[in-house]
Amino acid sequence: MNTTIPLPVQIVIDDVGWWTATDGSATGEPYRSGMSRAHVPADYLAIAELGRRLGMRPQAAMMLCDWDRDLLLRGLPEATWMGKAWDNPWRHHRHLDEAAQILNDRADHLELVVHGLAHEWWGGDTMERAEWADRAGVMRRRHLLVRHLETYAAILEGNNLGSMPSSFVPCAFNHAFGDGDAGIHRLLADFGILCVSTPFASMRQERPPQTARIAVECGVMTVDRGGGAPPWNAAAAAPPVAMTGPIIGLHWPNLLHAEAERNDEVIDSWVTHLQQLGRRPDRWLAPDTLRAWSQLAHVECTRIRETTAGLAFDFSGLDELTVRVPLDRFVAKTAGRQPPRFADGVRVLAESWEDASSCWVTQLQRAGSDASK
Ligand SMILES: [Zn+2]
Repeated sequence: MNTTIPLPVQIVIDDVGWWTATDGSATGEPYRSGMSRAHVPADYLAIAELGRRLGMRPQAAMMLCDWDRDLLLRGLPEATWMGKAWDNPWRHHRHLDEAAQILNDRADHLELVVHGLAHEWWGGDTMERAEWADRAGVMRRRHLLVRHLETYAAILEGNNLGSMPSSFVPCAFNHAFGDGDAGIHRLLADFGILCVSTPFASMRQERPPQTARIAVECGVMTVDRGGGAPPWNAAAAAPPVAMTGPIIGLHWPNLLHAEAERNDEVIDSWVTHLQQLGRRPDRWLAPDTLRAWSQLAHVECTRIRETTAGLAFDFSGLDELTVRVPLDRFVAKTAGRQPPRFADGVRVLAESWEDASSCWVTQLQRAGSDASK
């Protein structure tokens, strides 16, 4: 059979949102982005350009303490290195409005994702990793995290950056799966978060994930971020040779140049590399996170059969994933000149010939699911 359900690609960029870039970890302050210069609005444009040129919405996993105009974090002393004396030197800076404008104008080319307030935890005598859980993946006290999420939403609103995002990346990848109603996924679900990504290799697992790369709890779908990424603080990083998983897991400096006016040079090389990846018959550059998560669920769970009426799909494995992410749509790639034929059970939404991969790319929807969803 020459039809496959290709592995999706979504780009996840951590630690976006800092204005101060300095790694302060040696003096009890956040690691921040580690960039050699302060961040500027052009650093947001770089993400939007990456998305526009690839037809994707890369995830900008946002840190928000440098966006706290109203000093709300004074009320969360464990959230910052200054405690109740929290101050934010950026709060009146024009960059906030300029960057917010970019994020809103270019919302089709990137997604805002919850990452954290100041990334670490100052609940004891010294800074600890990290904001949502300790190194063992034990969640911080729930009533405090509720306030962190409420404050996160309030800072977004105070900057006109919209409502709570539906995706989350845990700080320092300190995370756990299988804690049930006592765990982080229940809390995230209560705030409307559907999609999480983190490396499964460093996730505490109280029970095995449902598939190799998908862990579902409280309706939240957590995807394995994998490894093999450039170092977190490497500016202008070269794209890795092997990109084998569904997530290209990056940190903001990886896509930026030490001279902001040269950011385009870095984006150029990533665009070229990712376009090549997307042309492979077994890979697909997903337009956004929900489509990427849905596609991955089909890769892991949907089986293709050849029948006399055409290709048929067995969705019984998929139906065992009780996620809130809509799983009705997926993409198939068919190698060769002959366009694929499909049996009942799916509807073809769109079909196009992709010269570079010599494949038909077919957008499919499960029959019986509502096209308007
Ligand atoms: Zn981070």
